[in-house]
Amino acid sequence: MNIQGADRLSKLPVYLFDDLDAQKAAEVAKGVDVIDLGVGDPDRPTPGYIVEALKQAVDNDRNHHYPSYKGLPEYRRAVAHWYKTNFNVDLDPEKEVLACIGSKRGVADLPMALCNPGDVVLVPNPCYTAYLPGILMAGAEVHFMPLLEENDFLPDLDAIPEPVRHRAKLMLLNFPGNPTAALGPLSFFQKVVEFAEQYNIIVSHDAPYSEAVFDGNRQPSFLETPGAKEVGIEFHSVSKVFNMSGWRCAHAVGNAEVLACLGKMRSNVDMGVFQPIQYAAIAALTGSMDFTREMCRVYNRRRDVLIEGLNRLGWNVRKNPASFFVWTRVPQKGISSGEFAAAVLKKSGVLFTPGRGFGEYGEGYIRIALTVEEDRLREAVDRIEKAGFVYI
Ligand SMILES: *Cc1c(COP(=O)(O)O)cnc(C)c1O
Repeated sequence: MNIQGADRLSKLPVYLFDDLDAQKAAEVAKGVDVIDLGVGDPDRPTPGYIVEALKQAVDNDRNHHYPSYKGLPEYRRAVAHWYKTNFNVDLDPEKEVLACIGSKRGVADLPMALCNPGDVVLVPNPCYTAYLPGILMAGAEVHFMPLLEENDFLPDLDAIPEPVRHRAKLMLLNFPGNPTAALGPLSFFQKVVEFAEQYNIIVSHDAPYSEAVFDGNRQPSFLETPGAKEVGIEFHSVSKVFNMSGWRCAHAVGNAEVLACLGKMRSNVDMGVFQPIQYAAIAALTGSMDFTREMCRVYNRRRDVLIEGLNRLGWNVRKNPASFFVWTRVPQKGISSGEFAAAVLKKSGVLFTPGRGFGEYGEGYIRIALTVEEDRLREAVDRIEKAGFVYI
């Protein structure tokens, strides 16, 4: 036998975290107690009332069958209710809500449902790594929109060349941004809607951190923007703000025609979210938001401990307004983000994600996840100081 993967597989990058996992495993094998500030996976457990809802639903054998790919009617109504309560956005649960087995899957399927070979997809850079595979698999072209600090990490729509605008079919956005931690204001969304209308571009906003905001900030839903539902959709997920990353439950909401394309694609390749998990997510979405608010306070304190600690070492880190991430410049001159992250891991056992892993405009930055307890963050700062990464 001569087994070879398809040519299109070779277009896919090595999954960023595989590489980090290998570096981490090498340190762990040497006996190092690695403080992993790499992947942004919520560290605390799913709240008990959500786990209880799953347990009850799993005892009901009506929930043991193939689920509908669209999501239970109760689930779609809960999502619509949540959008009304949190964003004052009206959604028709029948046509404007679609359940997904995680938004990672949703954002990967979307370009395959919408794009023909040769279509252009406008993609922020740096960006979440799962945006590219679906585009490449669809044979579409990527046009990167650089996210620069001087533009508050917002894409500069005016910089998109005219011919690209005409060939573009889809624009991807993500606020609060991963990895940049930037907020997307309504004034920016308004420009996006006008741009999308003018050039007939579908917009997909990925918003898994929309409630993870600090210092009185607010992240509006893209769908709050007048006209947004005519041009696009939004992905939201229970993974991050309800500590449910392992459960694989999310939803796409907004434009009914876009969702019909995505739904057709999904109905052919999967069967939907296990119903007890949907009932657990309903408990999350219809319950009080106290848990999420308390988690925000936890992340807020962690952020302050980490940033104040690093700034004592002369790192000059700006406080991120949202998300579980600190996105900051490599504090040392003349060294790449990958070299810096590797040096910190080797000398202090603290793992950061090099910004280059999120795209070329991520070079010069590192991403630090706030998904460990405060005492571990204090220890991380101590170790970094002892290892000599001090810039005063
Ligand atoms: C974590 C993350 C997701 C994935 O969420 P799931 O619903 O768990 O698949 C999607 N987009 C961004 C930007 C993320 O950071």
